[in-house]
Amino acid sequence: MSQQQDDLTALHWLFDMLQHIDVGLVVINKRYEIELWNGFMENHSGVSSTAARNKSLFSVFPDLNEEWLKQKFDNVLALRTPIYISWEQRPYLFPFKSYRSITGIADKMFQNVVIRPIKNANGTVTHLCVVVYDVTDVATNKAALSAANRKLDQLSKIDGLTELSNRATLDRALDVVYDAYKLHGGGPHSLVMADIDHFKKVNDSYGHQVGDEVLQQFAKILSSASRRGDFVGRFGGEEFGILLPNTDKNGAQVYCEKVRTQLEGMKIATSQGDISITVSLGVCELNDKAMGVKGWLAAADKALYAAKQQGRNRTVVAD
Ligand code: GH3
Ligand code: MG
Ligand code: MG
Repeated sequence: MSQQQDDLTALHWLFDMLQHIDVGLVVINKRYEIELWNGFMENHSGVSSTAARNKSLFSVFPDLNEEWLKQKFDNVLALRTPIYISWEQRPYLFPFKSYRSITGIADKMFQNVVIRPIKNANGTVTHLCVVVYDVTDVATNKAALSAANRKLDQLSKIDGLTELSNRATLDRALDVVYDAYKLHGGGPHSLVMADIDHFKKVNDSYGHQVGDEVLQQFAKILSSASRRGDFVGRFGGEEFGILLPNTDKNGAQVYCEKVRTQLEGMKIATSQGDISITVSLGVCELNDKAMGVKGWLAAADKALYAAKQQGRNRTVVAD
């Protein structure tokens, strides 16, 4: 084969590859007229190469942001350096349908786009190449990942069984309220500790599963008795902590008695039948700037312990 034939074969191969590569390729001239439109662009736009050729890109895609994109093209022509447009800045340039929209996250193809100057043999630049990469997978994975992270973040704040705040969340809330009180005063704020009476017996008589059902229903009672802005949390086991901001010890006692009498007067329906339980509660109002969160917790715990000592099914307020 002659050199010329070799070159022609190589050129043919090259053209075939460009035509079938899984990347969009568009060559335009200074007047933004399309001179090359590869298979990827044909397939995704539904516009054939013959229909696209010699037309202005902006007449083929009237929805393109003409002013913005012309500015980009002109910059590339003038500076002779490529420009990158990431999907994170702009999800897509060409409005192509996404065929991976099983999850419903993406109905348009996400694209990374590069606009490159094409140098002629004499070094001048009269044409541009727009290269379009389909990054829908990357984008949807990232969206799914951040959705999962948000969910995880939420889960890490919530107790799985009762859906109340967990211990860590309540600890953070206590820190915030205490620090504000120490620095700026205000309040009073109260902390309630609640512990179900003889809960071990529930587990022993009906099984752990029923114990769990009782915990879930008790959590609902604590929540519905609380107000907006209160933090109702599960400290662990059958022990609950309730932070009542801007509530003095009398207000906290009212809350406790509401919960206690409601529980005392009702039967909890479980998969093993109705069960009666009672609860003991300890209250401590934050009234000492030197107390510390630990001291506050300990005082509420001490009041709870006193309620148990005094016969259970009662509220004790720390003095
Ligand atoms: P008291 O009146 O003195 O509080 O007696 P009590 O039996 O409630 O107290 P104790 O602390 O001795 O027992 C608590 C029991 O709670 C022991 C444990 O088996 C049970 N428990 C802790 N966490 C869970 C849980 O997540 N689910 C169930 N079903 N039981 C739990
Ligand atoms: Mg108990
Ligand atoms: Mg206990």
